[in-house]
Amino acid sequence: MGQTGETNEGSARRRQRRFDPTAHRSELVSIVDAIAAMPELDPGRLDGLLKRFPKDGRGLFSRSEIISGFRHFKAEHWPALDEAGFVARLRLRPIRTQSGVTPVTVLTRPFPCPGECIFCPNDVRMPKSYLADEPGAQRAEDNRFDPYLQTWNRLDAYRSMGHPVDKVELIILGGTWSFHPEVYQVWFVKRCFDALNDYGSGIDGRAEAGLAPARFRELTPIGRGSAGSYNRRIRAQLHPTEQANWPELFASHRTNETARCRSVGLVVETRPDHISDAEVDRIRRLGCTKVQIGLQSLSDEVLERNRRGCDVAASRRALRLLRAAGFKLHVHWMPNLLGSSPEQDAADYSRLFDDPDFRPDELKLYPCSLIESAELMTYYESAQWRPYENDELVELLATCLERTPAYCRLTRVIRDFSSGDIVAGNKIANLREVAEAALAARGARSRDIRAREIRGAPFDADALALTVESYETSIGTEHFLAFVTDADRLVAFLRLSLPRSVRATPELRDSAMIREVHVYGDSLALGRRSDGTAQHLGLGQRLIEHARQISVEAGFGNLAVISAVGTRDYYRRLGFVDGELYQHLRCADRESAVAELERVP
Ligand code: SF4
Repeated sequence: MGQTGETNEGSARRRQRRFDPTAHRSELVSIVDAIAAMPELDPGRLDGLLKRFPKDGRGLFSRSEIISGFRHFKAEHWPALDEAGFVARLRLRPIRTQSGVTPVTVLTRPFPCPGECIFCPNDVRMPKSYLADEPGAQRAEDNRFDPYLQTWNRLDAYRSMGHPVDKVELIILGGTWSFHPEVYQVWFVKRCFDALNDYGSGIDGRAEAGLAPARFRELTPIGRGSAGSYNRRIRAQLHPTEQANWPELFASHRTNETARCRSVGLVVETRPDHISDAEVDRIRRLGCTKVQIGLQSLSDEVLERNRRGCDVAASRRALRLLRAAGFKLHVHWMPNLLGSSPEQDAADYSRLFDDPDFRPDELKLYPCSLIESAELMTYYESAQWRPYENDELVELLATCLERTPAYCRLTRVIRDFSSGDIVAGNKIANLREVAEAALAARGARSRDIRAREIRGAPFDADALALTVESYETSIGTEHFLAFVTDADRLVAFLRLSLPRSVRATPELRDSAMIREVHVYGDSLALGRRSDGTAQHLGLGQRLIEHARQISVEAGFGNLAVISAVGTRDYYRRLGFVDGELYQHLRCADRESAVAELERVP
């Protein structure tokens, strides 16, 4: 389970799709002329400008409509005006793409889930664990859960708001991915890639997509139910026709390797007990690079009471298999489950990082909230479960922030259900900020990745320091290499895994593994040069060279990388050669590898 991580941009997108700039030519040209003449675009002046040139004599043009007008009339009116610069000035909420990659979240259709977790919502209009009025879920429903429509329209919404769309992390959410039939999985991923490929080529294939009727929208919501009734009702609605085969998917992958919109990451979410050697192999073939996996608790007793249907041993096994295959591990963990307490949760959280079997790369921390359709309602009504008081929760989260190590990214500390959906539980929307303030009051601060990312801040490239943090995991030693500023702001990092024993797959024998390379800075176009940003300082390349040196010194003959489909070409240019599921750099060829690196422009 998870959350869509979306905000209400769906309505902006829908407005944008219907917007016709030619009907507003004179106002839009006047607005763009005035913006182009301004040395700085401050919100007050933009507001005054929009009021001077209203839309249809009444409303105000949105920023995305101005961008649309600019693009439409550019050749005629402003052929010399730099599009990227103009759009950047108008861009809404630049933070979304400042990590260098644009996230595109899509939901699978509703489908039975093997879990019966008592805290999980049962909204039959949605994939298990999602609610129909979450903004990202609404968008998926608007697109009939069709992967092509969701991806294409999301790219279009991003572009209309001035965000770059050339490097995309595809995040596939909804229930338990591994429980879907393989033909559906292959079809779903292929259609996401088709949308990326088409959008980058200016092809609009939406008319041929999403023709299946929206069967779930009309279902009456379950008032208070169980996973069993959700599964029964969804199963009765399923008449799957979607399918694609592996060669078709691989063809879409190949197109994406050089497409304008490339997948630089692909994520699915699943349960620990559905991870096996075969499943690890399958998700890798799909092009996945990261797995979101719900552990929820490291106590068998708590898992049992919440009817998770799998134990801590299953979590250990799943993380070991995924880590050995090089996947990035994005764990979900829930405090305030039935049978736990703030003290137990604090100890449980410490175990996440003290025990080498866990130590996730990323973490979503979801305090349990009570949703009416979840079975937890009955435990609440019989006073067997209660939500933590705000003070208890804030103190617990402050402790979690403090105990999160520098190699982990704490991506969320709240599941942002709308407050109307929450019967009992946290309703503080800015819970993270409140917890950070509580931590600051203790004289401490979080050192997790998210707290240290450089984002758009300027930095002195000559003053960057390379740091290496090493820790043990269930399969060997992990090195977290990072370029940081003197104020400890994170500009780039690389995850290098040095396994103790022979890897499961023969392709990885004698291999060290790069699990992630991440360079912060604005998500600039692939191959385009722009001085002064982190993307173009060669930091990724330098980190890879350091990783190779560490691997050589540790006695590895090969450095593998779990590359995304859209980064294969980048690694080829660095001297990596294609294997079956990974790309490889022979560590023994040190001189030629260095020469290769130096030739890369
Ligand atoms: S595994 Fe449990 S929490 Fe996750 S979607 Fe299924 S029922 Fe919900």
